[in-house]
Amino acid sequence: MSEKTKTAVIANEKIDNAKLIKASKIILDLQQELKKYIAKGHGPFLAAIYDSKGNLIAKTANSVVNKSCSHNHAEMNAIKLAEKKLGTYDLSPYNLSIYVTSEPCMMCLGGIMWSGIKAVYYGVPSERVTKITGFDEGFKPDWFKEFKKRGITVYGQIETEAGEKVLKDYVAGGHTVYKPKR
Ligand SMILES: [Zn+2]
Repeated sequence: MSEKTKTAVIANEKIDNAKLIKASKIILDLQQELKKYIAKGHGPFLAAIYDSKGNLIAKTANSVVNKSCSHNHAEMNAIKLAEKKLGTYDLSPYNLSIYVTSEPCMMCLGGIMWSGIKAVYYGVPSERVTKITGFDEGFKPDWFKEFKKRGITVYGQIETEAGEKVLKDYVAGGHTVYKPKR
């Protein structure tokens, strides 16, 4: 992919290249791995939580359809697993980062805020997710700014093209795009 067509990374702090290189690698790996989760019946989103030393604390895919639970988004599942593992409802002392294949929806933004996670790195932006798949990602405040106020770093649109490809394949594969009737 040439630089010209590559979607620019956005952040709520001055972009730190070391953080971005690390996040790009993790998110590209997640996009690859996501295909295997989709093949097993999961929704097309994967999240991983790491501590500051690079230890993986939790990695989970969306399981709304296969577990019949509307809030089983990848991020919510990962937060639940991390809290269970660490035996706490407050992750803030652990200095954790969440990496996710697409931008968190309105529910997951709340979930991240309540969890005490310190940094968010995501792939495909919500408007592209909605456009490609038809999932309704919800309405959001200026969350980059709101998270900054709360000491949460955000980097977005990381390796977007790779993520979009997985989402397009999900739709082309005839997998479920779910939303309640309105
Ligand atoms: Zn969500």
